[in-house]
Amino acid sequence: MAKFNRILSISPADRYAVVEPGVRLDDLNEKLAEINFIYPPDPASSMAATVGGSISTNAGGLRASMYGTTKEWVLGLEVVLPNGNMMTTGGRVLKRSAGYDLTALFIGAEGTLGVITKAFVKIWPKPEATGRILAYYDTIEKVGLAIKNVKSAGITPLIAEFLDKITMDSLRKAKGMSFPETASYMLILDVASTNLSISADLERTAKILRELEPIDLSITRDPDEMARIYEARKGAYSSLLKVRKSSSQRVIIGDVVVLASELPAALKLVAGKADELGIMVALFGHISDGNIHA
Ligand SMILES: Cc1cc2nc3c(=O)[nH]c(=O)nc-3n(C[C@H](O)[C@H](O)[C@H](O)COP(=O)(O)OP(=O)(O)OC[C@H]3O[C@@H](n4cnc5c(N)ncnc54)[C@H](O)[C@@H]3O)c2cc1C
Repeated sequence: MAKFNRILSISPADRYAVVEPGVRLDDLNEKLAEINFIYPPDPASSMAATVGGSISTNAGGLRASMYGTTKEWVLGLEVVLPNGNMMTTGGRVLKRSAGYDLTALFIGAEGTLGVITKAFVKIWPKPEATGRILAYYDTIEKVGLAIKNVKSAGITPLIAEFLDKITMDSLRKAKGMSFPETASYMLILDVASTNLSISADLERTAKILRELEPIDLSITRDPDEMARIYEARKGAYSSLLKVRKSSSQRVIIGDVVVLASELPAALKLVAGKADELGIMVALFGHISDGNIHA
């Protein structure tokens, strides 16, 4: 679908965009950035992932912590069915209550029900101000508890990602990133707010994270620094590939979702099984919605 790559219209007033399925997510967001809007679905593959592919896999991603997965952002679709007929589901309006939700059938269907040729997607204003907290802990229990305490305090992070030591080591080697030597886990937590409140909101969140005695904690609002960390996290999988002992060593990526509150127990289980079976397992993922990549 690479040639179906046009952004057909954007309406910030009505909060929608009409796009062809081959438009890459990063290209759509680059265009929307010109008017301070975003299309929230943001899988780590966003530089290559297309609107059609991400709808067909109901992609989540880093910002799913605040905005949910792709299914929350699709208003309607134009689809070519297996018999060659074309149909349109939904449309541009935000509310549709009558009848079956046929759009939902095609989301996550991996192309089995038809080929998406056009998508009506919701767009949203970019947060006015964001800041990032980097906290390092010695146990996964503390990371899990940290995110649980933040969310229980009524704070919804824009992004909440975790990386384990193996993933941090691969980013050190492949991308020259530096992390505290003694840290076993890293938590990347973004707070979205207004220019007026961002400093106070970051401090309030950091206070909760400090209660669990992190090895190190820092706050940044520097856009270059934030972009560097964001790209590094998005490149976790490719970094793991780069540091393989040989190209014949196979890397299998899993994608599991558990309740966020049960994540520490799930991660402990995975690590225990890996030890038992003698396989190397790197753990990272979207901790706020319990999505682990292992
Ligand atoms: C490195 C990496 C990191 C990732 N990180 C995340 C992540 O953080 N979060 C997350 O949720 N997912 C993640 N993913 C998975 C991601 O959701 C998908 O890779 C991506 O959304 C698929 O988009 P694509 O354009 O590459 O589709 P493809 O891989 O080309 O296709 C995916 C499926 O959609 C179907 N399809 C594609 N276009 C259409 C169309 N127009 N009509 C009907 N069916 C179609 C294809 O037949 C196929 O079944 C990651 C993947 C990779 C490789």
